[in-house]
Amino acid sequence: MSKNHIENLKCPKCGKDCEFTAWESINTDDNPEMKDRVRSNDIFMLKCPECSNNSVVFFPMYYYQPDKSFLIHFVPEYSSAAVDFMKGLNHDPYDENIPLKSDCHKRVVFNVNQLHEKLLILDEGLDDRGIELMKLFIIAEIMNKDKESKVKEVYLNKEKDGSLKFAILTDSGDWARTEFIRANYDLIVDKFMVDLLSDSEVVINIQWAMNLLDKKM
Ligand SMILES: [Zn+2]
Repeated sequence: MSKNHIENLKCPKCGKDCEFTAWESINTDDNPEMKDRVRSNDIFMLKCPECSNNSVVFFPMYYYQPDKSFLIHFVPEYSSAAVDFMKGLNHDPYDENIPLKSDCHKRVVFNVNQLHEKLLILDEGLDDRGIELMKLFIIAEIMNKDKESKVKEVYLNKEKDGSLKFAILTDSGDWARTEFIRANYDLIVDKFMVDLLSDSEVVINIQWAMNLLDKKM
């Protein structure tokens, strides 16, 4: 179920008291308009009526999209308690009378980039575990070419022209891009299908992909 409350926050620019609607939980069946508001970051914007300043406010939130059977818990910083809670969760986080579907994918993310990437993967009909495994191969390829280079972050991203690319942040602080190749994705998902079907992790990131590969070695 959707749930929100009003927080009284001060505008960081002019100090005016502003009312901010914090969403603890979003069910997109209850509030379909929130699909766009999460994707556009509008939900995190504190808009000051006095000076028109926009500032960003992050708060923990559940995002449940029943048509895709996908529940994401966004926590602005790492929390092992949030991970454990999500693993054991089998009903709506705010209504224990509403069971989650048995095929519901549950995820915990710890920053807004991860949240947006999960939503993009969901919208594109892809599997985030296949994407994380692809990232490992991309990082290996980069390090093969240049042993000195260190990759800090990799995100699947939708470009302005609508194409999908991986955005890669190296330790020099530069973002590079590389193509998302669908055929490679299909191969990876196919190869790891058995592992994916039996997997119930809720934190799906590069570390998860490395652990999976380690297990198979
Ligand atoms: Zn203001």
